[in-house]
Amino acid sequence: MTRVSALTFSALGLLVCGCGPTPKRPNVLLITIDTLRADHLGTYGYPRPTSPQIDAFAARSAVFENAHSSASWTLPSLASIHTSLLSTTHGCWKISSRLEPEFTTAAEVLRDAGYDTAMVACHIFLSAQYGLQQGFTHVDDELVRPPSDAAEAISSPGVTQRGVRFLERKAAAGEDVPWFLWLHYFDPHDSYLPHEGYSEKFGTKEEIDLYDGEIAFTDHYVGLVLKRLAELGLEDDTIVVITADHGEEFGEHGFKRHGYSLYQEAVRIPLVVRVPGAAARRIPEVVGNVDVLPTLLAACQIPMKSVQGANCAHELEGRSLLDAIRGTAALSEGQVVAEVRWHDGQDLRMVREGPWKLIEDQSRKQQRDQDALYDLAADPHEATDLRARENARAALMAEMVLHRLGRAIQWAGCYPLVEPYTPTAGDMQRLQDLGYAGEAVPAEGPK
Ligand SMILES: [Zn+2]
Repeated sequence: MTRVSALTFSALGLLVCGCGPTPKRPNVLLITIDTLRADHLGTYGYPRPTSPQIDAFAARSAVFENAHSSASWTLPSLASIHTSLLSTTHGCWKISSRLEPEFTTAAEVLRDAGYDTAMVACHIFLSAQYGLQQGFTHVDDELVRPPSDAAEAISSPGVTQRGVRFLERKAAAGEDVPWFLWLHYFDPHDSYLPHEGYSEKFGTKEEIDLYDGEIAFTDHYVGLVLKRLAELGLEDDTIVVITADHGEEFGEHGFKRHGYSLYQEAVRIPLVVRVPGAAARRIPEVVGNVDVLPTLLAACQIPMKSVQGANCAHELEGRSLLDAIRGTAALSEGQVVAEVRWHDGQDLRMVREGPWKLIEDQSRKQQRDQDALYDLAADPHEATDLRARENARAALMAEMVLHRLGRAIQWAGCYPLVEPYTPTAGDMQRLQDLGYAGEAVPAEGPK
């Protein structure tokens, strides 16, 4: 059983007492689309017509042009969206990992604030054993297939049908209870299948063509949910977030699929957020999927600065993007961190700040050395390693990512069930030099 911090409860108490009737909080519709690269959507500049529905919605929303996942595969990324923590802290960095019940998820916080919570799952990582269902009162995972069948399953129509059914039920009930609905789409994930009426525009010979057809197919079904939301009169009461868990590689840096690298094609994700009353805008600053939870809670007026783990309290990794979405304040330049340790011996991390991106490769059996510093403004395809020319910047960014790693390791110490990440001996020494003892400390620890 997870616990929201005492700070949160007291803050909530302030909100709900002595102020007259509390206005109904907004509903939340979270749509995550598996394996969806940002740069294959029209709203992110893709020339092919893969995403007319999402593009139309994005034209009325806040579009984050430089959003990143915390990892390049499903489980850690989704866990980061729901906890605002990095893989090192939430512990979902191996195929055998699960999000332990001692963590606090978005669904739990919203449920405890009076929300009706529901999710529709079609991916094995959303089944009960991986822990992402915690906090959801209604779980529909009938579409989850065993891994051996997943490649053949076409799930977008089913996810949409179930999502629409939930919306219609809520509209008909007319109750004064806000809701949180999470829909996860899976079709752009491999195997890439042709869809009649969608794939012909892109071709079916090359994998990337089939992938685009899968996006167009999924876009249609996401569009049906958005259309129904508006028809039911729920749009003005609902925050909508459309994002992805990670991207997909088609050999740009020698890899295919995902989970092998932290290049932009693997970690840059779409992030489109519509908050009722906020004007459409494009937001260029660098953000992360760990920012989704703080943003939702701010928009729902649920203060939450810290979370109580089993042993100690800690902060959230992300920050609220709400002021930027509303246009009331510019977003300061932030840093985003991503990690991947999925495969045996693999250990990659990256930090991005502004146009600069540092990848550090600590893998034991690395096929390709990914260590590099890139200037994405001048080199968006990550072709030229600038470490030699920008030696001081590379060192600064290496320290930056190590600070974040040290903090994440300490926060993981608040959760005894999490399998701890053990840094390399060299990293351990550097962490100690920076003031991290490699053990859990309260949130007031070294920054
Ligand atoms: Zn995925």
